[in-house]
Amino acid sequence: MASLPCRHFLLLHLIILSAAALDSPQEQDTPVTRFQQYLRIKTAHPEPDYSSAVSFLVSQAQSIGLQYRTIEFSPGKPLLLLSWLGSNPSLPSLLFNSHLDSVPAEPSKWLHPPFSAVRTPDGKIFARGTQDDKCIGMQYIEAIRNLKHKNFTPSRTIHVSYVPDEEIGGLDGAAKFVHSMDFDDLNVGFALDEGQASPGDEFRVFYADRSPWRLKIKATGPPGHGSRMYDNSAMENLMKSFEVIGRFRESQFDVVKASKASNSEVISVNPVYVKAGITSDTGFAMNVQPSQAEAGFDLRLPPTANPEEMKRRITEEWVPAIRNMSYEIIEKGPIRDHMGRPLMTSTNASNPWWLVFEQAITFAGEKLAKPEILASTTDARYIRHRGIPVLGFSPMSNTPILLHDHNEHLQDTVYLKGIKVYETLISSLSSFMEA
Ligand code: ZN
Repeated sequence: MASLPCRHFLLLHLIILSAAALDSPQEQDTPVTRFQQYLRIKTAHPEPDYSSAVSFLVSQAQSIGLQYRTIEFSPGKPLLLLSWLGSNPSLPSLLFNSHLDSVPAEPSKWLHPPFSAVRTPDGKIFARGTQDDKCIGMQYIEAIRNLKHKNFTPSRTIHVSYVPDEEIGGLDGAAKFVHSMDFDDLNVGFALDEGQASPGDEFRVFYADRSPWRLKIKATGPPGHGSRMYDNSAMENLMKSFEVIGRFRESQFDVVKASKASNSEVISVNPVYVKAGITSDTGFAMNVQPSQAEAGFDLRLPPTANPEEMKRRITEEWVPAIRNMSYEIIEKGPIRDHMGRPLMTSTNASNPWWLVFEQAITFAGEKLAKPEILASTTDARYIRHRGIPVLGFSPMSNTPILLHDHNEHLQDTVYLKGIKVYETLISSLSSFMEA
């Protein structure tokens, strides 16, 4: 490249300069450049820069006259709450939630650095968080900015929350928030939280999340020489469990393969680690049968699953104590409410909020796919646990699903259309008087 002719170098230099000017927040202040600014704040685990993200969002809130406050349920983990007071504050309010954090990224696997928020000439914005879920976090603010510009006044108060730690389970974020006095004081009647991109024309909407269980199983047995055939050895017992769990996994998967249910409507179980064997400096001792063996499984239960039945199955069939086995389940969040009902938000006429939501999408000129259970998990489950209807919704149609993936990106036009969709949603929901 050293032999590059001088005028080419100059041209290249000019292109780089003009590209930098295009993306530079100092040069322009538009919805897209503000989105890029938010994306450039590194809130990826394991060291999310929450304070910079909150400062940026506060400056945005101030620029459009929103009330704001931060609450810290855990030191160094702020939750930001923005509020737009309604003309009838006694009505239950609306909550628009998103999370501040994101999962890490492997820069070497990306076309553009994951925290550069590069916008390519064809309008793709590359950054960790473009889809999950800094898009909605900024779209809420931009939609409010536009509605204020149009002199719209909401009847219901609108709250926008930015919570920490969603990507690591939400225990120091949404889980504490929903059980706080601060949350009770908001008197939330209906909430929207993140959804997922849709590769087709229709927006996806989610009425429930699956609940993760982390299952660790342990087997013990007589140790001994690798040449002997023991009955009930640790490895033999662990392998039997694998067989039984594998059959259950197949039975669930068959239902999906036969198109009788979607992936998110069945119980998934996947092995994630196996730990066994006696090691030394030279590696595994190949002639010793270990006295202990352990394995870990990721289970996801839809709210329609019966957790008691699942525990019975684990105790009696998967990990029977008579085979010298024990287990531990770590349940990541609730699956039922206090009355024992599955955590699901109705998507029929029994839920007036659903009807308003559905009409608003139509009014915005958009289409909705059949409501789904989310295969993974969001903070929405904590809000549903308080008996509040919540829909998971991120307005990204004709978009590949790239959350947690390399090269996560979002088309600028899709982002901008989403702002218009939230304008319609916020105005319709906040003007709805009957619920
Ligand atoms: Zn997310």
